[in-house]
Amino acid sequence: MDLGKGISIIDAMDLDKEKRTGCYVLHAEELTLVETCASPSIPYLLEGFKTLGIDPKNIKNIIVTHVHLDHAGGVGLLLDSCPNAKVIVHPRGRRHLADPSKLIMGARAVYGEKFDELFDPILPVPDNRLIIKEDGDTLQIGEYRILTFLNTPGHAKHHFSIHDSWSNGIFTGDTIGVFYPQLFEKGLELYLPSTSPNQFDPDAMIDSLEKIKALDVERIYFGHYGMTTNPSHVYEQIYKWLPLFMESGEKVWKDKQGASIETKSEALFQELYAKVESYLAEKEISLDQEMSEIIKLDLRVGSMGIIDYLAKKTK
Ligand SMILES: [Zn+2]
Repeated sequence: MDLGKGISIIDAMDLDKEKRTGCYVLHAEELTLVETCASPSIPYLLEGFKTLGIDPKNIKNIIVTHVHLDHAGGVGLLLDSCPNAKVIVHPRGRRHLADPSKLIMGARAVYGEKFDELFDPILPVPDNRLIIKEDGDTLQIGEYRILTFLNTPGHAKHHFSIHDSWSNGIFTGDTIGVFYPQLFEKGLELYLPSTSPNQFDPDAMIDSLEKIKALDVERIYFGHYGMTTNPSHVYEQIYKWLPLFMESGEKVWKDKQGASIETKSEALFQELYAKVESYLAEKEISLDQEMSEIIKLDLRVGSMGIIDYLAKKTK
């Protein structure tokens, strides 16, 4: 899909769901991608390149906002089709792309038997194809198109966001929330903070939001999913939801003292889902099966991240 300003998005059909995770194509002199999604999505990307008339051999830069598998898991596999591409990653993410064994171990622990179906294979990226970008570094991809990398922790410490001068937009990965275009089509803009384990930090998330807000961008390109031309709504909603999520987290943490981490996470999930559901009801939006599954999945993982953060904080 064409987003204007020389940017297209390819639906990576993450988890076999539409409009969940996307790969952005920047049609500049140096053809550039942002995000690859997980390996099972790579056939969808190759198909998308075909539709866009792109020969993958011409792709010069593949940028991943952070190394979570739904954003960068497929990068090693994609490189097989892109012999002339370099991979650009946050300094803290580099070693995980060069040697994904830790990522694989972590994901196997969380996803168990489903790991193969969701993520396999996770291939290493050769060292000589990796480039790191520090906070404030730039990359010129066209005569008038400069990308600027900003360190934006909060969702993960290995996360940067990328400002694009041509569209005055920013690729935020998971830093300032998840956008649900399916609800937007029904007339509701919903942005929820992405608080997954295990480096979630609410203070860092707000600092990153402030940093992004100060750029006065006109567009935000989300990891999940798509673009908004209403950045101020995004900031407002993250300011609203993040404190609500944390309040609920602290309440559950207190009420369920002594209970296991799993029990606490499940209780928090129930609270958060009820909150989101009642917000949607207020707006007279009802969720179909697929949408409610997507939001439940996000809030389940998000609850785990909040409880994990509180557990570390109280240690
Ligand atoms: Zn992530």
